[in-house]
Amino acid sequence: MVHFACSILTMNNPTWTTQWQDIINQLQDQLPGQKFDAWINPLEANIVDNALIISCASNFFINGFKADCGSVFEDCVHTVLGQGMDIHYKVGKPQVVKPSEEKTQPSKIDGNVDSRFTFKNFIVGSSNEFAFAACQAVAEKPGESYNPLYLHGGVGLGKTHLIHAISNELSQKPDIKIAYRTGERFTNELIKAIGSRSTDQFREHYRKVDVLIIDDVQFIAGKTSTQEEFFHTFNALHEVHKQIILVSDRNPHDMSHLEERLRSRFNWGLVADIQPPNLETRLAILASKTELAGITLDKDVSYLLASRITNNVRELEGALTRLTAFSHLTKKSIDMDMAKNVLREQLHVVVRSITIEDIQKKIADYYGIAPKEMKSNKRSRNIAFPRQVAMYISKELTQASLPEIGSSFGGRDHTTVLYAHRKIDAQRQEDRAFDDEISHLLNTLRG
Ligand code: ADP
Ligand code: MG
Repeated sequence: MVHFACSILTMNNPTWTTQWQDIINQLQDQLPGQKFDAWINPLEANIVDNALIISCASNFFINGFKADCGSVFEDCVHTVLGQGMDIHYKVGKPQVVKPSEEKTQPSKIDGNVDSRFTFKNFIVGSSNEFAFAACQAVAEKPGESYNPLYLHGGVGLGKTHLIHAISNELSQKPDIKIAYRTGERFTNELIKAIGSRSTDQFREHYRKVDVLIIDDVQFIAGKTSTQEEFFHTFNALHEVHKQIILVSDRNPHDMSHLEERLRSRFNWGLVADIQPPNLETRLAILASKTELAGITLDKDVSYLLASRITNNVRELEGALTRLTAFSHLTKKSIDMDMAKNVLREQLHVVVRSITIEDIQKKIADYYGIAPKEMKSNKRSRNIAFPRQVAMYISKELTQASLPEIGSSFGGRDHTTVLYAHRKIDAQRQEDRAFDDEISHLLNTLRG
């Protein structure tokens, strides 16, 4: 029996009602019952023009939904409603749309753009400030400042967030036609157009836009006909000063299989990269995400997450979502033990037990000092530094709390341990050779 609480607003459109029921049926087949009840039942869906609008209770719900079953959901939607169907997630009660109003006001953004990704909620640090400034400049004066804008960087570092922010910002201005596509969707549309002999329409569609944004453009590298088509679209738009924004996981030089003439065009404007955020930025991102989700985290827990999950913001968010879900389900508040337990894999918590004494001995040997200095009051650098390294490693490799570590180092305060941890962590980020040295020590101690 289908438990059908997921609401549909345009009930008076029978085709859509059946289609939504199809989607629900498919999801019920594909998702475990608990997930279906938790994520699909609360959804409210509505269809306006060529977009499916999903309304949810909070941003937090949307994040969890996307992380847990977003791709299954989107696959089902595209199977039933076609690849061209855009999906938008919104917070709050949906507007009830009367059929007669449905055709009014087409959205200025053509494509799947998430309205929650804004410049305002993007945390700026040294790793992304250049890219951020470039995106703001382009959003302010499209086609005038940097054309094309080519943004690149590793997975989960905020590239998509930034270009959605550009789209959202531009959509506030009157009369700008924005097309947002992933490289994959652009390619699929082209293949479809070739199949149905409608490449003229395809071409026409893209050459009418004022701003063309292609996310994950690396997808088109090596696909001859897509590159060819894209090359001509690029030229046609660039000639008349229409803005082109490209995002990739690597810089143009490293795109093997990319046609040379495209590579050179990608370099015409401004190439900006995004690096993994440093610890301070990761802490700031975490603070902003917890605020958005309406939860608070202990300093210790934030620090644990931000110091262990280092090069992917999406993973950091995922850890937070998991932790919050666990806390909701068990009705317990989040603390260090819960974080270490629930996030064992993400945090690389070591199962084999290593004692603080083992660490003190090993690090003292390594730096050529007596193990007793780990507990002494001496503050000279040749003693204090190995001691800080040992505190750092104790924090990384044992389950001991900050006060417990402090007391094993001659009754020191937990803030001293925290300070040592931050200091060593910062130095690891700045000094590659030192980072390697610490990694080596961690690995030998892990055994
Ligand atoms: P990418 O496209 O580079 O793989 P995304 O833009 O999808 O990464 O970012 C992954 C997640 O991390 C998104 O939820 C995004 O909001 C978040 N994120 C990344 N960087 C930041 C930042 N500097 N400030 C706030 N959120 C960020
Ligand atoms: Mg992306």
